[in-house]
Amino acid sequence: MVSEKINKIINEQINKEFYSGYLYLSMSAHLKELGLFGFASWTRIQAKEEVEHGLKLLDYLLERDSFVTLRQIPTPNFEFNGVVSIFKEIYEHERSVTNAIMEIAKLSEDECDRKTLTFIDWFIEEQVEEEQAVKNIIKRLEIFGEDKASLFLMDKELGERTE
Ligand code: MG
Repeated sequence: MVSEKINKIINEQINKEFYSGYLYLSMSAHLKELGLFGFASWTRIQAKEEVEHGLKLLDYLLERDSFVTLRQIPTPNFEFNGVVSIFKEIYEHERSVTNAIMEIAKLSEDECDRKTLTFIDWFIEEQVEEEQAVKNIIKRLEIFGEDKASLFLMDKELGERTE
């Protein structure tokens, strides 16, 4: 079993991951309404990934013979102001998720829980990749986003993501 503190923080993280999934889904629906089908598809795949993160954490608690307590998922934002601001919001959100993951790592150290510390390493790597990917999209959007032809090509490119 994991300690009470570790149990609490991982259960909270499960909620955060499912919330992330909800947020990406909300963005995906909006992007689809705008006709940006590639961006919509990209964020929808991202939503699925977040659910998988939540499940990975849930399975970890079960593996450690610890309690899973699923709480209410907060309502995600559903009023957006264009594709650039959506990706900026994604970036800020991912940074807050990274901070939450780092808190788990720190607590694992404090609690001398080496198993959780090793486990959470995968999430740290994942967050680094995630932030980088989103940052690159923002950079390109800021350069080309005003130009409709470029936005069209970027939408097409993002739509090619399969997993
Ligand atoms: Mg995640």
